[in-house]
Amino acid sequence: MSNQLIDPFGRGVEYIRLSVTDRCDLRCFYCLPGDYRDFQEPEEWLTFDEIERIIRAFASLGVQRLRVTGGEPLVRKNLPALVTQLSGISGIEDLSLSTNAVSLARQAEDLKTAGISRINVSLDSLRPERFKDITRGNLDKVINGLMTAKAAGFSPIKINMVVMKGVNDDEIEDMLEFCIEHDFTLRFIETMPVGDTGRSAASHYVSLQDVKDRLSERYQLIPGVMPGGGPARYVQVAGTSLRIGFITPISQHFCETCNRVRLAVDGTLYLCLGQDHKFEFRPLLRAGISDADLQEAARTAITLKPERHEFREKPQQVVRFMARTGG
Ligand code: SAM
Repeated sequence: MSNQLIDPFGRGVEYIRLSVTDRCDLRCFYCLPGDYRDFQEPEEWLTFDEIERIIRAFASLGVQRLRVTGGEPLVRKNLPALVTQLSGISGIEDLSLSTNAVSLARQAEDLKTAGISRINVSLDSLRPERFKDITRGNLDKVINGLMTAKAAGFSPIKINMVVMKGVNDDEIEDMLEFCIEHDFTLRFIETMPVGDTGRSAASHYVSLQDVKDRLSERYQLIPGVMPGGGPARYVQVAGTSLRIGFITPISQHFCETCNRVRLAVDGTLYLCLGQDHKFEFRPLLRAGISDADLQEAARTAITLKPERHEFREKPQQVVRFMARTGG
């Protein structure tokens, strides 16, 4: 136990979200500016071996869960090869992926074989025109990716929907029926003031408590749990196998149980999505740090974890875009 990572507020850290690129093949209006060009350059990216070394260090200190994310992780070349490296790390018991599914149809089988067991897919609309307005992307590709992943045997598949007033809040019930039909888990997310884009979407903010109240009028929602180690609070829809998770960073933050940190593609470890606290691993790696010192560096990094985000009190605070931090 003494080997575990405990932050200054007594929380055990056992979960890393690993951003393998800050690039994305979509431009969700609340996430990345349409004309954004300020991406990290390849020489700034951690190599697969550098990523593996950092994750090994954390795994030796009790980190068990790893989620591959981005930007859009599937745009990083040879991703299945990285996943194979990561799934071989002793101690990592849960290896999952967050994706927009645009190119999932092509990669689903390889990712499954490489060791990804669970996937989360972002999907804010089931209407092609609206999907395009929100993301600039093609809905058919996403649905095709989802169905290929289902056929490949990923389980569970979770759909993440950012609920936005006047944008897609009239599709909540449609999304619920879609998930019942395909046996997906559904998670609703509140809009966060991350980057200028996130802040500009604040006018569309909807409290998920209101969404839950609205759904309760039509469906019987049974409180429940679901494994995953994340922040969602789940209910089950009576008479179906559908589980719905509510992720409420704004209306009811869950910082007291935060068990995670985020490693960006440039080797910066962000200790909180809503704060600037960070630790730089890349200079240490490129200066030839030993494994033992890398482990010590991981311990030091965790001492920097802040108590909580301040999205409500200081919405101007986070200038990084979500894609940079690793969503
Ligand atoms: N590209 C992958 C995907 O689509 O899941 C992984 C990265 S993406 C940044 C992760 C999640 O962050 C997506 O579900 C996206 O909708 C969400 N997101 C981005 N900006 C957000 C914001 N300002 N508020 C709430 N969620 C946001």
